[in-house]
Amino acid sequence: MPSLPERERLAATAARPAVEIRRSARRRKTVSARREGEGILLMVPASVSRAEALEHLDRLLPRLRRSGPDGGAPDDAALAARARAVAQAHLGPQVRPRSIRWVTNQNTRWGSTTPARGSIRISHRLRGVPEYVLDYVIHHELCHLLEASHNARFRRLEARYPQMERARAFLEGMLHQSGLGPGAEPDQEALGPSGSCGPSSSPSS
Ligand SMILES: [Zn+2]
Repeated sequence: MPSLPERERLAATAARPAVEIRRSARRRKTVSARREGEGILLMVPASVSRAEALEHLDRLLPRLRRSGPDGGAPDDAALAARARAVAQAHLGPQVRPRSIRWVTNQNTRWGSTTPARGSIRISHRLRGVPEYVLDYVIHHELCHLLEASHNARFRRLEARYPQMERARAFLEGMLHQSGLGPGAEPDQEALGPSGSCGPSSSPSS
């Protein structure tokens, strides 16, 4: 019987981040997964095929997305560093939120901004997505510090992010997988009537 490779790397798709499958002869039955960098490390017994491994991953993925910073996801300080880098690259270093943080009470929007307070909140559901996707949502919210509504000026600012279309496709894939349907905007309610940007109902500190 041909042996399976010890390691396999699979590129990110719309539905999941990049995955490395690592097979171990010592592992008998258990399958485990954890976030590693921008991707996911899936540890399986030596005999598990790629298709079987991905079935296990489908089962483990929702839990990985829900889990906290213990999975190695960037914390709020890292989020602030991302925001500085994204602003510097596309909007200018003067565009800085007063605060940016992960929140767990935001399940139908990827992000929200309160322009008057300069505060940005990013949904914990984005923990573990590829960096270009997280950066896109950060960029979109940073644009709201300059322009509150989704008007033509906003669109011009938003379009400065080079991987916008790719990132939106990834987010739509995540929504599709979770059954929430298409959410056209990072900060639009994916459930119920279209939300607008601006003051958010979620508590901010
Ligand atoms: Zn928006």
